[in-house]
Amino acid sequence: MVSFLIKTFGCQFNELYSAAIADALVRGGNQSVEDLDKASLVIIDSCAVRKKSEEKAFSFLGEAAKTIGARNIVFIGCVASVDRERAVRIAGHGLRIIEGTMSLDAILAVVETLAPIELDDSPPRSLFPTADIELIRGCESYCTYCIVPAARGREISIDGADVLRSALGAVRSGFSELLFLGQNINKYRSSFGGLVGILSQVDAIEGSFWFWFLSSHPANFEPIEVRRLMELQHIEHRLHLPLQSGSDRILERMNRHYTLSQYADLVRPIRDAAGWALTTDIIVGFPGETNDDFLRTIDAVQEFRFDGVFLAKYSDRQGTPSSRMGDKVPQSVIDERHAMLLRVIQDLSREGNQRVAGQVVEVLVLSRQGSDKAFGRSIDGRNVWFSWMGQEPQVGRFMRVLIDHGSKEGLYGTTI
Ligand code: SF4
Repeated sequence: MVSFLIKTFGCQFNELYSAAIADALVRGGNQSVEDLDKASLVIIDSCAVRKKSEEKAFSFLGEAAKTIGARNIVFIGCVASVDRERAVRIAGHGLRIIEGTMSLDAILAVVETLAPIELDDSPPRSLFPTADIELIRGCESYCTYCIVPAARGREISIDGADVLRSALGAVRSGFSELLFLGQNINKYRSSFGGLVGILSQVDAIEGSFWFWFLSSHPANFEPIEVRRLMELQHIEHRLHLPLQSGSDRILERMNRHYTLSQYADLVRPIRDAAGWALTTDIIVGFPGETNDDFLRTIDAVQEFRFDGVFLAKYSDRQGTPSSRMGDKVPQSVIDERHAMLLRVIQDLSREGNQRVAGQVVEVLVLSRQGSDKAFGRSIDGRNVWFSWMGQEPQVGRFMRVLIDHGSKEGLYGTTI
């Protein structure tokens, strides 16, 4: 038996891979530990999307190498692909690095040389009640600020029959939510067609479950597809569609291949429907962003009334085209714009959540918090903190909650 520790940085993909590795190790008879000095195997699942997460991964790598030695560390994720040399410099020779598209099979093959594992097709239990299911791996969109195409490699769609088998298995084993993943999920192709085709097949599975998907790219999505997805029975009432900037000039420099007006056409069905939420990603301070470009982003955020925005300050990622652009926005201006936009976003979130007061929403229970509170997520993706009358909440169950009030963080209420 081996004591192992998995440290995960970054996106939902990394969460999925780390959870699957942990499950395989536990089934193999190994023990998960939280402290480095109790571990004899360390797996670091790194993220290179932001400078900060990359530095954290390297710092943890250095600490782990000092504690258990490079030979007992498996280094995976985007940083492993884009800066192998630095990883070896920090940890020393013997470090096991997995680069490239990084299929789970390839990672598990290396892990198996260090500890016994047992494979199973079912979704990782540690993610319960949400089963993460990969639809497409890699990315070939080449946004100029992004390291993912270099780190994750070419797009590979997962066979439709395998996706359906995973979805069916997850529903039968009691998972209440399926999350389909792809860096650019609209590029998915299988014998069932594109994204709408495979999700329509999933929708036909009998059972009590919701599903949603991450992450869409406006350039590869059509309004008719949005409308068809909205008709599905099990789909959650939310769309996450990264806008990145409200200025067409900046979108072009980002190599995003859509305009603000095309984005507006795509989200119109969502904004016109009651009870559907729209969330997005925005980067402030992209090279060359003028005050006018920034004001267009503020206008767009207000016009689309986003229910949630993941706001990032631009930072150079080594090896990306934008890192070589000359007209960088000073850090003080980036900080100022970030603070200004954050206030707008928080006001919108507060107003959007306050509008739900007095309504009954369906909630998926995600955790218990003490003896009289629970936390969950509504069908349109809002955080919900609630107390109950009668039946006690159980993780993975759906409950109906009467909302008393909302704040910028979410909704508060009591079950009915
Ligand atoms: S679509 Fe753009 S931002 Fe998203 S992973 Fe691909 S290159 Fe990066």
